Amino acid sequence: MSIKQNILAINDQLPEHVKLVAVSKTKPVELLKEAYSVGVRVFGENKVQELCYKQELLPKDIQWHMIGHLQSNKVKYIAPFISLIHSVDSPKLLKIINNEAQKNRRVIDVLIQVHIAKEETKFGLTIENVEKLFNSNILEELQHIRVVGLMGMATNTNSETDVKDEFILLRRYFDSFQETFFKEKGYFNTLSMGMSSDYPLAIDCGSTMVRIGSTLFGKRNI
Ligand SMILES: *Cc1c(COP(=O)(O)O)cnc(C)c1O
Repeated sequence: MSIKQNILAINDQLPEHVKLVAVSKTKPVELLKEAYSVGVRVFGENKVQELCYKQELLPKDIQWHMIGHLQSNKVKYIAPFISLIHSVDSPKLLKIINNEAQKNRRVIDVLIQVHIAKEETKFGLTIENVEKLFNSNILEELQHIRVVGLMGMATNTNSETDVKDEFILLRRYFDSFQETFFKEKGYFNTLSMGMSSDYPLAIDCGSTMVRIGSTLFGKRNI
């Protein structure tokens, strides 16, 4: 299968309200250009250095998404151009993104990464801590960021029911946060969940944004 065929097959499965992030990490620029040539405009990367390198080489109308763990000292490199950061997992990081956005006279859209998986290794805030963050006045003080939703990764397991339970739970919290904290703010509308192995299930459970890598670009070696 070519990238073009992969894109067509994926797009066929995505309802109108679900956005595709083409996860291009580790893939060479040529493959990104190929995806671009068949209409892909949203690319996701998980390393700042690689993201910046590719951003320089590719057309400027691409929306770049940071989907990997973000270190505070690297925010400044992506702040001038990043379109969405999926992986915000601390109030400290929010403040740093806000500062760097201000320096660039921008407002940066972010998602709060929520820890829904059973694995210890996955990043993200617990639901309790997300609630604490939204209950505090931190966001009001940060005029250069906009929290537009949540991101979550399910447990890496063959159990479809476990994954489904996690997705349903995240959607439920998303709805409840929207209602409680963002009712007058129409921009809290993005739930990023679902990757190659589980995106059809994620969509069934209410995802609005899927992050698809290997199904689109082929398997990664690392
Ligand atoms: C790599 C990655 C993906 C895409 O994974 P695939 O299984 O290749 O689709 C999605 N989300 C995050 C956070 C990733 O790091």
